Amino acid sequence: MTMNVTELFGSKVFNDKVMKERLPKETYKALKKTIEDGAELELDVAKVVAHAMKDWAIEQGATHFTHWFQPMTGITAEKHDSFIQPEDGGKVIMSFSGKELVKGEPDASSFPSGGLRATFEARGYTAWDPTSYAFIKDDTLCIPTAFCSYSGEALDKKTPLLRSMQAIDKQARRVLKLFGNDDVKRVITTVGPEQEYFLIDTDMYNARPDLIYTGRTLFGAKPPKGQELDDHYFGTIKPRVSAFMKELDEELWKLGVLAKTKHNEVAPAQHELAPIFSTTNIATDHNQLTMEMMKVVASRHHMTCLLHEKPFEGVNGSGKHNNWSISTDTGLNLLEPGKTPSKNAQFLLFLTAVIKAVDEYQDLLRVSVASAGNDHRLGANEAPPAIISMFLGDELEDVVDSIIEGTDYTDKKKKLMSIGATVLPSISQDTTDRNRTSPFAFTGNKFEFRSLGSAASISGPNIVLNTIVAEELDIFATELEKAKDFDKALDKLVKRELTAHKRIIFNGNGYSDEWVKEAKKRGLLNLRSTVDALPSFVSDKSKDLFKKHGVFTDVELTSRYEIELEKYSKIIDIEAKTLVSIVKKDIIGAASEYETILADTINTKTACGLKISNAVEENRLESANKLTISMDKDLSRLEKDIKKAESIEDSLELARFHHDVIISDMESVRESVDSLEVMIPSNIWPYPTYGEILYSVK
Ligand code: ADP
Ligand code: MG
Repeated sequence: MTMNVTELFGSKVFNDKVMKERLPKETYKALKKTIEDGAELELDVAKVVAHAMKDWAIEQGATHFTHWFQPMTGITAEKHDSFIQPEDGGKVIMSFSGKELVKGEPDASSFPSGGLRATFEARGYTAWDPTSYAFIKDDTLCIPTAFCSYSGEALDKKTPLLRSMQAIDKQARRVLKLFGNDDVKRVITTVGPEQEYFLIDTDMYNARPDLIYTGRTLFGAKPPKGQELDDHYFGTIKPRVSAFMKELDEELWKLGVLAKTKHNEVAPAQHELAPIFSTTNIATDHNQLTMEMMKVVASRHHMTCLLHEKPFEGVNGSGKHNNWSISTDTGLNLLEPGKTPSKNAQFLLFLTAVIKAVDEYQDLLRVSVASAGNDHRLGANEAPPAIISMFLGDELEDVVDSIIEGTDYTDKKKKLMSIGATVLPSISQDTTDRNRTSPFAFTGNKFEFRSLGSAASISGPNIVLNTIVAEELDIFATELEKAKDFDKALDKLVKRELTAHKRIIFNGNGYSDEWVKEAKKRGLLNLRSTVDALPSFVSDKSKDLFKKHGVFTDVELTSRYEIELEKYSKIIDIEAKTLVSIVKKDIIGAASEYETILADTINTKTACGLKISNAVEENRLESANKLTISMDKDLSRLEKDIKKAESIEDSLELARFHHDVIISDMESVRESVDSLEVMIPSNIWPYPTYGEILYSVK
């Protein structure tokens, strides 16, 4: 059977086409106004929309509806209610009211709130986000919603993202006005997130409690073959994986997700999916759906999808590349160097805003990608370093240099007249995409933020990006609005800011030790771990920024900080306890069994008078015994420290303890376990090895 993709695409989405077909003209117009201009939605309108939505959903086989939201857990949440409504005579009708569409009241008490609910109200509510289409998943009508406390504090990842989009819209339009672009009604940020993941056979997954409890392996010796031959990247896709990818595409297309590219990644068993970009809000919703569908579809193929940033030590981990740009409702990409000098002047101002933003708020960008899982990648010579810097590519860096030096970029001797008269060279994708070690790279008409972890929502990094760029645009607009001679003021501003923030631009190898030294000399931050990074989130500078642009109140910011700290400590604690249990239950037993066999062999041989050839067994026994003893010692220390952690009350101190003490305790235990794994015969070793797991999908 051939598939009609154009018919399949969006078939489970209550999208514009469906709305147009099914809503009365007036209702459609009113809803469009809400979606496009952010106008408030009247309950009368909602009532009509709800009715049409329900009829459509029932035709699609739906029996339930849910307010689909994104609490601070980083995954999505849903509580299903059926459409049924009792009628006389023991019957039911299917009903869905306007009120049910716009507002829900899930019991919020079990979602992380970082103390917010204690301060305010115990209950929370969800509110429909009409800018993201409703869709059907699992016979349920899913309504994308924001999740807030009763007093309006955001308890989720969507609300602040929408707020940050409003902030950058407002400031970017001020700047555009200065360039005479009065027709722009709305400025939108766009995102295309490339998603990496691993696929392993479910039998392997089920045999590894560390994967089940923590999402990553806590032990495992390096396999004889890893990614050394670089033969997996873009390699032929195995039939099982190919079948999975095909089905995943179909499921995503039905949901209106623009799944576009799929290929094998660097590590064995690692793959990537990239969508075509959309508005940041929808891209974020769709990335959550993509991660969810990856897991669901994998299980149908008896495979398990691992989204953890570092499932296997010594093997490349997974990340997400957040391709980000700013566009107008008139279809102009503001990060696209224009064809005319005036367009270029505008581009250069936006570029300068991004450069200044990244330099001034390196810490917030770093915080936005910080997690226990991502700590394994950033700075580990496989993902961008923990130091935030920007890569512009040769042509654009030449332009920046010439502006700073006051020379024409084409002829270094000629004076640059004015930015408003600059004709930029055409910036080719090829030269801008060369540096794969840069955390933040210009790629022709967008920036690619490459430090994101694979498992996390992309909401956080985009909240930060939108807000910090809004802040710089605000400052620029304020300065330029006052100028008597706009062109002159623009020249001055761009030159001044590029000079002041040039240090953030680095086109070299981000993995090298020299860069660490050089970055330090430049005064760039090197926040190596989540615990190092998180405090920046609640600095006065950060509080002022987010408050000014209406993205986070102080309380919201503090609560998020607390949630992240707590999450970090909990993750490490679970990992530590899982490792203890695995070693105690099975590894010690396997080591003893092996030692017993060796001892028995020695005894047997001795009894037979073969003393001379005992050397092999004796050596092995001695090594195994040594490893077991040190493993046992390290395990006791880990257990003692887990206990000690229980008595630490301050959340930052506790996270620091997990980072400094527990993680290093775990590493010590692991070292002995991995050495034992290499020695002990496979019929005794109780767990599948890295080789078996990584090559489990044939
Ligand atoms: P590649 O990185 O494979 O060369 P591209 O650079 O064309 O491919 O695109 C990578 C991702 O960037 C895709 O998800 C694409 O849709 C997205 N992208 C392209 N243009 C934009 C834009 N203006 N804003 C946001 N994302 C974009
Ligand atoms: Mg890319």
